[in-house]
Amino acid sequence: MSAADSRKPWMARLADSAKARVRTSRAGGSSRLGPGAAKAPDGASHRARAAQGLGLTSERLRERMVERLRSSGVIHPAVLAAMAGIERHRFVDEALASRAYEDTALPIGFEQTISQPLIVALMTEAVLGAPRVARVLEVGTGCGYQAAVLAQCCGEVYSIERISALHQRARLNLRALRLANLRLVCGDGMQGLAEAAPFDAMLIAAAASDLPAALLGQLAIGGRAVAPLGGRDEQLLCVITRAGPDQYTRQILERVRFVPLLPGVE
Ligand code: SAH
Repeated sequence: MSAADSRKPWMARLADSAKARVRTSRAGGSSRLGPGAAKAPDGASHRARAAQGLGLTSERLRERMVERLRSSGVIHPAVLAAMAGIERHRFVDEALASRAYEDTALPIGFEQTISQPLIVALMTEAVLGAPRVARVLEVGTGCGYQAAVLAQCCGEVYSIERISALHQRARLNLRALRLANLRLVCGDGMQGLAEAAPFDAMLIAAAASDLPAALLGQLAIGGRAVAPLGGRDEQLLCVITRAGPDQYTRQILERVRFVPLLPGVE
């Protein structure tokens, strides 16, 4: 990011960059859904075929999804623009592609799920409520969809996944988007990412009873972590703000249900 960019007000810059990227992705969208998609490399090919199956209707499906997000109270223009532009059906299995724009969580293998669009939108909005979002950490890359939304709304985004097969899958899913500000890491997100800390904001996509100490320590003063906290079956989506070196406040957003945050790598 240039010095001139960093002097621009964040919101305006974010809205500008989101619009620009969405335009790019729309312009390229139809050709990626066309014959070129069939030539997609590696494991991306089945998703490319699914995309062909959805054809040109996927843009309309996304517009409808965004309308539903708006009527559920999502207002941040950068979030809405990112979700209107990113092809969610490319992040799920072929058999589920036709359901990619429903407001529901879907399985992504390894007993994990892609979060429902409304939760992705609300969590991203909560992240964007931080005073700065120049450096953001996501724990739980999964299929990479939430990471893509964050990368279109924030400065630098680091996303960690503990299941190496999912980390690889996310890499493939995200390749076509060419998000130069997104770094994918395979590792235990409970340890955070000390080499890139401190983070202005964090988005934790898996549930724990409390935010792990390493993550609390890697949050910048004034920064906020958005995380589902609670037991295995039901949690509260919380915003934890680091008010001072040893001072944290907690605000509850709503009831949610996430897969558990687990230690180690597999
Ligand atoms: N944001 C994801 C949702 C993934 S579900 C998406 O858009 O698809 C939550 C993910 O968190 C799972 O992939 C799970 O493997 C991962 N996870 C759980 N504990 C973790 C940990 N300690 N470190 C990194 N990832 C973790």
